[in-house]
Amino acid sequence: MQTSFTLAQLADPDVAESEKILRACVHCGFCTATCPTYVLDGNELDSPRGRIYLIKDMLENDRPATAEVTLHIDRCLSCLACMTTCPSGVHYMHLVDHARAHIERTYRRPAHERLLRAALASLLPYPQRLRLALSAALVGKPFAALAEAVGLKRLAAMLRLAPWRGPHRPLAPQTFKAPGPRKGRVALLAGCVNDVLAPQINAAAIRVLNRLGIEVVVAEGAGCCGSLVHHMGRERQALVQARTNIDAWTAIDGLDAIVITTSGCGTTVKDYGFMLRADPIYAERSAKVASLAVDITEYLAELPLEADENALGLVVAYHAACSLQHGQRVTRQPKELLVKLGFVVRDVPDGHLCCGSAGTYNILQSDIARRLRDRKVRTIERVRPDVIAAGNVGCITQIATGTKLPAVHTIELIDWATGGPCPPALGKHRPQLAMRPSAAAG
Ligand code: SF4
Ligand code: SF4
Repeated sequence: MQTSFTLAQLADPDVAESEKILRACVHCGFCTATCPTYVLDGNELDSPRGRIYLIKDMLENDRPATAEVTLHIDRCLSCLACMTTCPSGVHYMHLVDHARAHIERTYRRPAHERLLRAALASLLPYPQRLRLALSAALVGKPFAALAEAVGLKRLAAMLRLAPWRGPHRPLAPQTFKAPGPRKGRVALLAGCVNDVLAPQINAAAIRVLNRLGIEVVVAEGAGCCGSLVHHMGRERQALVQARTNIDAWTAIDGLDAIVITTSGCGTTVKDYGFMLRADPIYAERSAKVASLAVDITEYLAELPLEADENALGLVVAYHAACSLQHGQRVTRQPKELLVKLGFVVRDVPDGHLCCGSAGTYNILQSDIARRLRDRKVRTIERVRPDVIAAGNVGCITQIATGTKLPAVHTIELIDWATGGPCPPALGKHRPQLAMRPSAAAG
């Protein structure tokens, strides 16, 4: 695609980067076929190609974002299916990140929108504040349908996503030593939402790693990876969070990896090197941290896992989180690990399409998110699984609001199959699972 940025504009490294990306696009439109928002409504402006044009026009003309551009960029899930499909290697993620930051700087949203975004940005990344908010949500949860009926759709979406039980305490900084000789040492990103909503995920990861002789460090000072606010265009806040984590992890000696159990966070931490490339103090360290970051399944794929006998041929619908399959291109490892441990893994039809979770998307764009969730649940139920597995707490929470099937993190199944406890979400379904023909045969 031809561009016409001036030399003065290109002196800005972010504009220069976006210009490179824009030039790579040959507007072939292949990406439209796999874009969830285009698949739903067929509007070119809600396709990757349409958004690329809008961003080009806005940046080239040095224009403040308009309401129209903001609408279509806000509707983008940052699922990155378009990057997997694009034959020209267009780095849509960096382009849309730049556009979101530009919108945040130049567009004044309506007051209620600003208030909601400010509330999400000041609550979600901070586990203690999030715990308080979730405690309040517990009181309001029975009124979710009422909120929907009177048109408070976003409030209804938030209440539906909140769990029916009280929130958990975040994992305190500490070291989990492996019994026996140490075979490795990793830092675990405890995360923010992940840890408060579903502490069993990190607990399972720690047990599996320790069982394999890997020491696990939860670093003092590490917190939210920054992705939640990064995707809202709040660049400064995201970079503060990234730098805080880099300080925390680079203070630990002898790390083999930084292990991440939430794939949305993994995509962002792997991008720290790019996000801080122009920071003279952090550029080198951010690149090092990014190179150490791995999804838990990537790390485990290299280790000798041995099955206990818990899997019992359980049929697992593997939902590939967008951030894992498109953002990190980790596609094989989760499924191979589950198969190796005795599960029967079924791919979900149209598995490249997002479930609608996408960070805060299921709150901010609750209508589209719900349609994508319903579509995803229909395709999952078609493969008749016993359980749904995914590598991202956002997807698990989103999908669980639309189905009676148990939804768990892949690591919970791996832990269970290698001697750990049954995942809590599966526990409730155990009597039905025990009645299955394959279980009886086993
Ligand atoms: S597939 Fe790639 S090159 Fe083609 S329109 Fe989409 S982003 Fe541009
Ligand atoms: S990131 Fe996802 S929603 Fe956004 S343009 Fe690409 S495919 Fe469409």
